[in-house]
Amino acid sequence: MIKLDNITKIFRTSEVETVALDGVSLEVKQGEFIAIMGPSGCGKSTLLNILGLLDGATSGSYQLSGHEVAGLSERERTRVRKGQIGFVFQSFNLIDEMTVAENVALPLVYQGISAQERKQRTSDVLDRVAISHRAGHFPSQLSGGQQQRVAIARATVTRPLLILADEPTGNLDSRNGAEVMALLSELNSEGATIIMVTHSERDASYAHRTIHLLDGKITDHPSSH
Ligand code: ADP
Ligand code: MG
Repeated sequence: MIKLDNITKIFRTSEVETVALDGVSLEVKQGEFIAIMGPSGCGKSTLLNILGLLDGATSGSYQLSGHEVAGLSERERTRVRKGQIGFVFQSFNLIDEMTVAENVALPLVYQGISAQERKQRTSDVLDRVAISHRAGHFPSQLSGGQQQRVAIARATVTRPLLILADEPTGNLDSRNGAEVMALLSELNSEGATIIMVTHSERDASYAHRTIHLLDGKITDHPSSH
């Protein structure tokens, strides 16, 4: 599903040049659940953003579902990303002025899905994350764990094949964190490919394999199969 070959990402400002990714090669098969670990600043979020087409690489090849996407413009990346890739962030990133249901329905609005179908799919996915009883609430009225469940609902309402999660339990206590991990595991067992950045060994144990990053490089030896 995913094949990265020698991906580099260099951030340039007038004074400094930061090599955030330094020759990353990686293959991910459909249905895999992968954890990415490594110290702060090693390039984890940069890698996730490139995988999710939020950002482009400086050089290298990225094949997503058989298509080369490394050289796409921002506009083309947005088009490919829409509906195909769901994001979950550490800080939830919900829109405070919108209700839970409106937040979750937003990706469907961007996809041009009819109001009636939006309503049905939003209600289904809110049931799925057990937060239907808060559909009319605003994010600030929910606990962190509930907000992250809403964010997962929003990330999955378009039924994406790929879910990317950047420290999804980073702002949660252990009980809420475990709930979020159980939910991600469930989505994975139903077929979603998941790539998750985490600092927690316990969270990583939910994944099929763990990739370690250091100074923009993968330090693991590629597996033989
Ligand atoms: P991690 O998620 O592992 O903590 P990041 O991927 O966020 O690391 O960052 C990797 C490196 O790239 C860091 O040195 C960071 O300062 C730098 N970096 C990340 N994003 C930018 C940016 N937009 N502009 C300049 N430097 C950046
Ligand atoms: Mg990060």
